[in-house]
Amino acid sequence: MATTPTLEIASQPHPAPTPDADRVAAIADPGFGQTFTDHMVTIDYDEGKGWHSAQLCARAPLALDPAASVLHYAQEIFEGMKAYKMEDGAMALFRPDRNAQRFNESARRLAMPELPEDLFIEAIRQSVLADRDWFPTVDGGSLYIRPFMIATEPFLGVRPARQYKFITFLTAVGGYFKAGAPAVSIWVSNDYTRAAPGGTGAAKCGGNYAASLVPLGEGMAKGHDQVVFLDAVERKWIEELGGMNLFYVFDDGSMITPPLSGTILPGITRDSLITLAREEGLDVREERYSIDQWEADATSGRLMETFACGTAAVVTPVGHVAGEGIGFDIGSGGPGQLTTNLREKLVAIQRGKAEDRHGWVMRLD
Ligand SMILES: *Cc1c(COP(=O)(O)O)cnc(C)c1O
Repeated sequence: MATTPTLEIASQPHPAPTPDADRVAAIADPGFGQTFTDHMVTIDYDEGKGWHSAQLCARAPLALDPAASVLHYAQEIFEGMKAYKMEDGAMALFRPDRNAQRFNESARRLAMPELPEDLFIEAIRQSVLADRDWFPTVDGGSLYIRPFMIATEPFLGVRPARQYKFITFLTAVGGYFKAGAPAVSIWVSNDYTRAAPGGTGAAKCGGNYAASLVPLGEGMAKGHDQVVFLDAVERKWIEELGGMNLFYVFDDGSMITPPLSGTILPGITRDSLITLAREEGLDVREERYSIDQWEADATSGRLMETFACGTAAVVTPVGHVAGEGIGFDIGSGGPGQLTTNLREKLVAIQRGKAEDRHGWVMRLD
């Protein structure tokens, strides 16, 4: 680390970590988001005192007062990142400074205190190194990191809380979508929107996800994998999936992704792919794209590929789109050439197999 973190993180390792045999079995087929490691880092905040009591400790349930503000008014934000294993066996994070910045942008929107960026990164570094033996043995596996912050003050009046807790923990993960699926099928929500102008769409907060679950359930019940949301004003412009940004690839090699208008989440994968695609000489435009145009372009063949991107599922091709009065396939219904190429470029940098020209990779050891 270039700078010393502002707060020392006390180390209280787990007194009875998971036995080796159980851990080895768990990481052979970890699934997504269900295989938890032994440790977590917690840091407390009190108004007037600031951040304090940082510790690396055994992962355990929390004790919360039933009146804790997060349980009533949903003051909660989170991040999603991965620790990768490099070719030489070293562990690394991808653009953790961007996650630290975005965490604080979310904090400001939810009237929560900011966490110093170096402390955010140091908490993650220590938790990953403490549980490095949990790194999955499956192909494409990683340690998925979930930093989050909640309002813990017991108070039912409505105002920003005065006490918070930051926690980061890990899960060993394989692929996000079921293996072998060539592309995902997505459902266009007609009745529900995800974010409105002036709302919290650009913040990574649990509330956005809560609001997306009914339409997601609707889509899943009809056999689709994800839901895509349209803008809340005109119900016309495609915004994003519940947790992934979208890109459209055309037959002239150009690409479109919706602009960061305040109602979509500024994805770090999105930003990285824009950079990589432009370096390849591709014309990438941040432009609004309508649902009607999407269908027309997919049908005419002008649209070659569509993919969704985010840390959890990296780059995922969209093969089919359905909604009320809508139903079309994209390209061959499987991963397109440019989607595959960009995915490989990104993964190669993340795993230390390609030159890191932008200083995106932060080695942990
Ligand atoms: C986290 C998230 C993304 C993807 O962001 P990445 O930084 O690329 O992981 C996209 N949309 C939403 C709503 C998200 O919460």
